[in-house]
Amino acid sequence: MRVLITGGAGFLGSHLSDLLLEKGCEIICMDNFLTGRPENIAHLLGHSRFQFIQYDVTNYIHVDGPLDFILHLASPASPADFERLGINILKVGALGTHKTLGLAVAKQAKFLLASTSEVYGDPLVHPQSEEYLGNVNPIGIRGVYDEAKRFAEAMTMAYHRMHGTDVRIARIFNTYGERMRQDDGRAVPNFIIQALKGRDLTVYGDGQQTRSICHYSDLIAGLYNLMLSDVTTPVNLGNPSEITMLDLAHKIIAMTESKSCIAFRELPQDDPRVRLPDIAKARSLLDWTPRVGPDEGLGRTIAWFKRELEK
Ligand code: NAD
Ligand code: UDP
Repeated sequence: MRVLITGGAGFLGSHLSDLLLEKGCEIICMDNFLTGRPENIAHLLGHSRFQFIQYDVTNYIHVDGPLDFILHLASPASPADFERLGINILKVGALGTHKTLGLAVAKQAKFLLASTSEVYGDPLVHPQSEEYLGNVNPIGIRGVYDEAKRFAEAMTMAYHRMHGTDVRIARIFNTYGERMRQDDGRAVPNFIIQALKGRDLTVYGDGQQTRSICHYSDLIAGLYNLMLSDVTTPVNLGNPSEITMLDLAHKIIAMTESKSCIAFRELPQDDPRVRLPDIAKARSLLDWTPRVGPDEGLGRTIAWFKRELEK
């Protein structure tokens, strides 16, 4: 398969490039380095089946030759960037999705959208299945991301209905691991860096809000199964290992044997109180289930960040 990955120099996009190269695909990786990094793909640059194009996918996209699949992962993803990059996020979710879908029609390629659990907003049902329609504040700080992804899903389904584009929509729940930026701002990298540097771990609010954290290796395997499936409706991908943010902070302090303490900080606006994926659909239709628990996944991530800090 000849595959275009937008956002391919990001955390998930670079790992997906690794997996698809292993599977024998030819990869065209497109990224403008807004939140991604050259280091993530440096090891791939000499590969005969890997090509990198630095480009902003909110503009018209031209790719030479045929394409079998377009994986649209481009978008900032950390809540720490929602104010700073609000317009970029809306543009890549709306214009970027439009351009990549237009390219899919032109190339008769299949299309996969990296959507998010944020389409459920601050959920009023728990756990969240794909049928839940969500509880999103369109004008809040998180609205730029939530609404961009909701629009992207709507656009994807419109292309499916109007042009017959063969689409996939992955609703990705909190995924962490090696290659996240030290200053990414999301809870797992923040806590690990703070613990390794002996700084206080910044827990927002009372820390009783929950997330369900998935190691990237499981998530990437799920995306691959979804690509190969014929499921055109949204599928939740995540690890249903729910944990409060206070417990996560304590766990990371223990695993790093850090002397750090907890420092409580103000809870950001509209921060979801709970989040837990119902993955029955992925289990049955994709034959996928996450295998890496938090102990193993966090252990691997901590070891990686330690090595990064020693560089
Ligand atoms: P990331 O920031 O590491 O990767 C996103 C990549 O997109 C970056 O390399 C960035 O430079 C690139 N990008 C942004 N705007 C672009 C543009 N206009 N043109 C070209 N490239 C652009 O984040 P990630 O965690 O790897 O997320 C990847 C995708 O998965 C995103 O679409 C995100 O919304 C989605 N997602 C991730 C998670 C998660 O927990 N990691 C959860 C839900 C959804
Ligand atoms: N959080 C925190 N301290 C941090 C970063 C995040 O307590 O330093 C909290 C945040 O308020 C949220 C949860 O951790 O409740 C997960 O945040 P993250 O940014 O990882 O992603 P989200 O799930 O909110 O998109």
